[in-house]
Amino acid sequence: MGMFDGRKVLVLGVANDRSIAWGMAEALHREGAQLAFTYLNEALERRVRPLAEGIGCRNVYPCDVQSDEQLDTLFARLKEDWGTIDGVVHSLAYADKEDLSNRFVNTSRAGFQLALDVSAYSLVAVARRALPLMTDNGGSLVTLTYLGSERVVSNYNVMGVAKAALEASVRYLAADLGEFNIRVNAISAGPIKTLAASGVPQFRDMLSAFAEKAPLRRNVTQDDVANTGLYLLGPLGSGVTGEILYVDCGFNIMGS
Ligand code: NAD
Repeated sequence: MGMFDGRKVLVLGVANDRSIAWGMAEALHREGAQLAFTYLNEALERRVRPLAEGIGCRNVYPCDVQSDEQLDTLFARLKEDWGTIDGVVHSLAYADKEDLSNRFVNTSRAGFQLALDVSAYSLVAVARRALPLMTDNGGSLVTLTYLGSERVVSNYNVMGVAKAALEASVRYLAADLGEFNIRVNAISAGPIKTLAASGVPQFRDMLSAFAEKAPLRRNVTQDDVANTGLYLLGPLGSGVTGEILYVDCGFNIMGS
């Protein structure tokens, strides 16, 4: 018996097998969940589809979260194929590379809007469309954030601002959707080497500094995050909503 037997979960944000979203998907699959995946573009479809098929999943849909039309089509197809859903993993973000390497003060209006649109507004857009499908005793949404939302982290820049907006959105959505028994939470993960992380300059240095300072004296793994994802998405987290939960080997508690 798996903890997610009979539950249907939509996973947004797989780019490859190193993606945090993929770690979550594998854990959910192990626990019996039925899964659906999205991919951003055709190049990524070539990576996502074989991964999904490898765990027996054929529900794979295109979705660029900047497009309302694609979001509408995604949820219309989910309604057709599944009827209802129980959970959503929102594990995606984007900012222009130069906005991560230049001084923050030079962030352009377009760069600011892009980072906020993809990385924060998309959670609101997804939650609104998931709501009418979460009719089987509610549901749970989990997103991914990072400490750069509340502390200044070198080279995180506009993405830190986007994560702050994302975390506030988690709280407002949790308050809005609680009456439908829909929970909304975020995992604040420590640095993990993924495609998105490779866009952050000096990421390797960040990894080693992190492992040195974190109480657990190591870096965070995909599995660490996935385990907490299971807790927040499933019955064990039934009373938890609006929270930003650190999965960072304790890094955030440390002073200088
Ligand atoms: P990743 O590159 O594997 O995943 C990022 C995903 O975002 C990709 O699948 C990409 O296709 C998707 N994406 C980007 N723009 C999109 C758009 N317009 N529409 C739809 N999808 C889009 O990297 P990851 O590290 O697994 O990132 C997942 C989440 O975890 C992100 O929110 C990231 O900020 C967060 N996070 C990562 C770390 C880390 O160190 N890797 C730490 C804390 C939080």
